[in-house]
Amino acid sequence: MEAKPGDRVSIRTVHETLEGTLVESYEAGIVLLKLRNGYNFGIKKEDIVSIDLIGKKKEGKKKEARKVNSKLPNVDVIITGGTISSRVDYQTGGVKWLTNPEELFELYPEIFEICNVRKVEIPFMKASENMDYKDWQEIAKICEKSLNDGDCEGVIITHGTDFLHYTAAALSFFLKDLNKPVVLTYSQRSSDRASSDAALNLQCAARVACSDIAEVVLVGHASSNDDFCYALRGSKVRKLHSSRRDAFKPVNTMAIARVFPDRIETITGHRTRDDNKKVKLDDGFNDKIALIKFYPGMDPEIFDFLSTRYHGVVIEVSGLGHLAIDEARKNLLPAIKRAIDNGLIVCAACQTVYGRLDPLVYSPGRKLMNYGIIFLGDMLAETAYVKLGFVLGHRQWKTKEQIREKMLENISGEFNNRLEG
Ligand code: GLU
Repeated sequence: MEAKPGDRVSIRTVHETLEGTLVESYEAGIVLLKLRNGYNFGIKKEDIVSIDLIGKKKEGKKKEARKVNSKLPNVDVIITGGTISSRVDYQTGGVKWLTNPEELFELYPEIFEICNVRKVEIPFMKASENMDYKDWQEIAKICEKSLNDGDCEGVIITHGTDFLHYTAAALSFFLKDLNKPVVLTYSQRSSDRASSDAALNLQCAARVACSDIAEVVLVGHASSNDDFCYALRGSKVRKLHSSRRDAFKPVNTMAIARVFPDRIETITGHRTRDDNKKVKLDDGFNDKIALIKFYPGMDPEIFDFLSTRYHGVVIEVSGLGHLAIDEARKNLLPAIKRAIDNGLIVCAACQTVYGRLDPLVYSPGRKLMNYGIIFLGDMLAETAYVKLGFVLGHRQWKTKEQIREKMLENISGEFNNRLEG
């Protein structure tokens, strides 16, 4: 009898014999097998010697893919889009969103061995480049509700990868007095592809959501192997590769923990769970802010434009904190001074990504500091952008001094004075 998707089979190839469940493959010439560990393995049809049926798919009325096990910790899941919630449409060649949560859980049943998915919310299905602060606020609001419910141990958010670190930073600021884990996860390769990273990421995300790590963290592959993940602090993480499964790296710090599907090994200190506390939503945001990068030859007029339309800007300057001033053909200082005098809040972050600004090393940096630019040490530029919107979105911090003080306060681990990693 011919094996069909859902059947358990043993496939003998010219190299090895593999056992697993047949998965619908839309890719020509490829048979897709889901191995016991959740990994999808693509086998070239021409390499197959034989396929033996071990067990037929259990038929019957279509059940919910979501399994309830009330003995396991309760976790709520928020689905927002991205590759992890999509599958390849081989007719058009494009990737399309899954249309309901059951499809997602059909693809990743391993999660039910770790936690009980109590609730699934789908506020929207978007690629992360199409999100803005209103989406971050919506996600934060759902998190607040779940985390303040005594029955919920933690929250998992599935998200697109490209701008995931912005959402992670926003939740780090919006969820004040965090009491439980908020875990963002993703996949670089869709679930119906061989070598998808989704199953391991989701299993490890579930493990962290049930742990005592009461922080906003991103959980994803630690290397390009499929063995364990890292839990990375949401305010100190960045996508640093376009396609690798370990695209996210901790910046200027270390991972909080190594996460395996069956255990967690803590690496650094972290905020711990307190089920008696309540998290508070504090999601004020002013989006009249910009994030720009200094480049040699930059036109000073940019600052004149910004000061008439915007309330704040983060500028990525050189490693130690420089941009073109006195000796440059286009000296930016007069325009920056005019902009600051006009009320524009100007912050500086480091464009080398790793390392910290140290404007005191050279005299041009000292000069810039005296003009009132706020130098943000080792804070990531993207986190600085989100934090600036957050700070300017609060009426209680309105003077330049209050804004500077707040930007320099370590609210959510965005500064690391010990600079590791
Ligand atoms: N640009 C899309 C996003 O960031 C790609 C999908 C993905 O990376 O998950 O959502």
